[in-house]
Amino acid sequence: MREIVILGSTGSIGVQALEIVAANPDKFRVVGLSAGSKNLELLVEQAKKYGVSVIGTTADGTKARDLAGEIQVIDGPKAATEIATIPCDIVLNAVTGSIGLGPTLAALGVGNKVALANKESLVAGGDLVMAYGRDQIIPVDSEHSALYQCFLSGKSSEVKQVVLTASGGPFRDRTDLSDVTLDQALAHPTWSMGQVVTINSATLMNKGLEIIEAHYLFDLAYSKIQAVIHPQSVVHSMVEFIDGSTIAQASPPNMKGPIAYALSGANRISKATAAIDWSKPNTWEFLPIDNNRFPAIDLARRCGELGGGLPAIFNAANEVAVDAFIAGKISFTQIVEIVEGSVQKLGGGSPIAIRDLSDVSALEKDARAMAVELIGDRK
Ligand code: NDP
Ligand code: MG
Repeated sequence: MREIVILGSTGSIGVQALEIVAANPDKFRVVGLSAGSKNLELLVEQAKKYGVSVIGTTADGTKARDLAGEIQVIDGPKAATEIATIPCDIVLNAVTGSIGLGPTLAALGVGNKVALANKESLVAGGDLVMAYGRDQIIPVDSEHSALYQCFLSGKSSEVKQVVLTASGGPFRDRTDLSDVTLDQALAHPTWSMGQVVTINSATLMNKGLEIIEAHYLFDLAYSKIQAVIHPQSVVHSMVEFIDGSTIAQASPPNMKGPIAYALSGANRISKATAAIDWSKPNTWEFLPIDNNRFPAIDLARRCGELGGGLPAIFNAANEVAVDAFIAGKISFTQIVEIVEGSVQKLGGGSPIAIRDLSDVSALEKDARAMAVELIGDRK
C-alpha cells in the first residue's frame, strides 16, 4: 500500500489521480490533499470520499472547517507547502504555476519523493529542485514520463538526443494567429487539461517550458533536446541513441498512464490507461515545427541556455500574459511578445544566480511587474 499526498487535487491532474486511487484501492491510500480556493466543496468531498484526515486550502479556512467536520484544515498561502511535508511514499504536485515550487522543495526537503506534474517547479527553480537528486523525482508530464521510460533501454552516455513530441495545439495549421479567440485557444485537439496548460499548448509555450524541464530532469544540454509536431499525440516522446536507434513510448493520449506510473514509483499498474488498438488503422505523423509562427520555443531555448534566473523570468512573465489573454486584455500573439519583452528588459547583463526560493520569488516579482507594465502599454 503506497501512501500518497496530492497537491492540486481539484484540478485536471489531481482528479485523474484520485480516479486511479479509486480504481486501485489495494495499492494507494491518500494521506493529504490540497487545493487553491476555487473548489472548496470538491476538496472536502474528496477528503470524505477517500478518508483523508488533513486538507489544505489557500482560502480562509472558516468555510472549509464548517464543511469538513472532523477533517483537519490547514489554510492560507503556505497550506500546500505544509501538506507537502506529510510523511508519505510520494507527493503528487499537480498545482498550476510556479507557486508550486515552494511545495516541491518542501516535500523534497523532508525526504518525500515527488511525482512532478508541476513543470513550472523545474522551470523556475530547476537547480534548487535537482539538488535533491534525480532519484527523488518522477515526472508526470507525458513527454518526460516517456523519456524516463525510454532512457531505461540504454545508458545515459549512449544518448544522442531526445525528441519531445508536440500535438501542435489547435493552431497547428492556421497561418494567421492575430485574431485567435479564447474559445479557439481552449479547444485543444487531443488533450483535455487545465486552462493555463491548454493556452500554453496553443502558443507552444508549453513545449518551451518542457524543453527546460527536460534539461533539468535528465541533465541534458539544450542542443540534445529537440521537439517535433506529432498531431496524433500517441508517441509521447523519444530517445535517440548513438547507434542510430530510436526508442519511443506510445499510448493513446490520456494522462492516467503517466500519473499511475509516477504514483506507483515507476511501476506499471494493470489497465492504467487504454492501449493502442492495432485492429484499426493507425497513422503517426511527425512534422517539423514552424518557429516563425511559434516563436515561443526558440525563446524558451535561449532563456534556458542563458540559465540562472532567466527561465524563472520567462515563466513568470508567461503566467501574467496568459492571465491577461484569458481576461481579454491582450491578443493571442501578444502573449509571446509580452514574455519576450519582459525577458529582454530584465535579462540583460550576466545571468542572475539562484541560491534559494527567495531569490526565485524576487526575480518573479520583477518579471510579473514588468509583464504588467508591458501589457498596460499595449492596450
Ligand atoms: P488545473 O488548473 O486543472 O488545476 C490546478 C490545481 O492547483 C487545482 O487543484 C487548484 O485548486 C490548485 N491550485 C491553484 N493555485 C494553488 C495554490 N496557490 N496553492 C495550492 N494549490 C493551488 O491544472 P492541471 O491539472 O491542468 O495542471 C497541473 C499541473 O500539471 C500544471 O503544472 C500543468 O502544466 C501540468 N500538466 C498538466 C497536464 C494535464 O493534462 N492537465 C498535462 C501535463 C502537465 P483550485 O481548484 O482551488 O483552483
Ligand atoms: Mg506535456
